[in-house]
Amino acid sequence: MSFAIAPPPQPSVAIAASDQRFPVRRIFCVGRNYADHVREMGNDPKSEPPLFFSKPADAVVESGAAIVYPSNTSNLHHEVELVIAIGIGGSNIDEASALSHVWGYAVGVDLTRRDRQAEAKKAGTPWDTAKGFDHSAPVGALTPASASGDPARARIWIKVNGETRQDAATGDMIWSVPEIIAALSRWWELKPGDLIFTGSPSGVAALNPGDTIECGIDGLAPLSFSIAR
Ligand code: MN
Repeated sequence: MSFAIAPPPQPSVAIAASDQRFPVRRIFCVGRNYADHVREMGNDPKSEPPLFFSKPADAVVESGAAIVYPSNTSNLHHEVELVIAIGIGGSNIDEASALSHVWGYAVGVDLTRRDRQAEAKKAGTPWDTAKGFDHSAPVGALTPASASGDPARARIWIKVNGETRQDAATGDMIWSVPEIIAALSRWWELKPGDLIFTGSPSGVAALNPGDTIECGIDGLAPLSFSIAR
């Protein structure tokens, strides 16, 4: 077989303390998964099932990168999130076995064109331009699940230019890691290489050119990046 154009490169993320890389197949995201953030966005935390959206696989950005401020927004927001990497796929996965599908975990940031998202919500139109843009998914190095401690019971934080913006407990997620995997696998057959951004706590705020961002989750490799001037 030959391709009519050069095949696209395989998106991937680093693995902590390893020369190997984790190939990224798809990026799924959970919306509205911390009650404080649901309230700060003007919604009722208990009223809805998990909300899923996605980003292209090649939206991933390596720790240490300088990200160009995206086009068509004047309100770029950070959302620090626990990221699940799926190692074993499946459909209709039950909560009891969900963790056996997890390869590892990382800290990531769901970059958001907040002005475009607000317009989409108001108009009832899709979120793709608000959420699924180029370079919208910075992800730190993955840590294998066996070496991750308990990232679902950890502190999650982000600092911008040294100032803490979000500082929360992943245990406060409305939908737990097993519940997210079970629910998502009823909409899509999960495949090895899928990443799942699990939602952001409160404190989302704007990023500007020249900002330096550092974030972490206890037990996982940290993530840092900047917004280019
Ligand atoms: Mn998010």
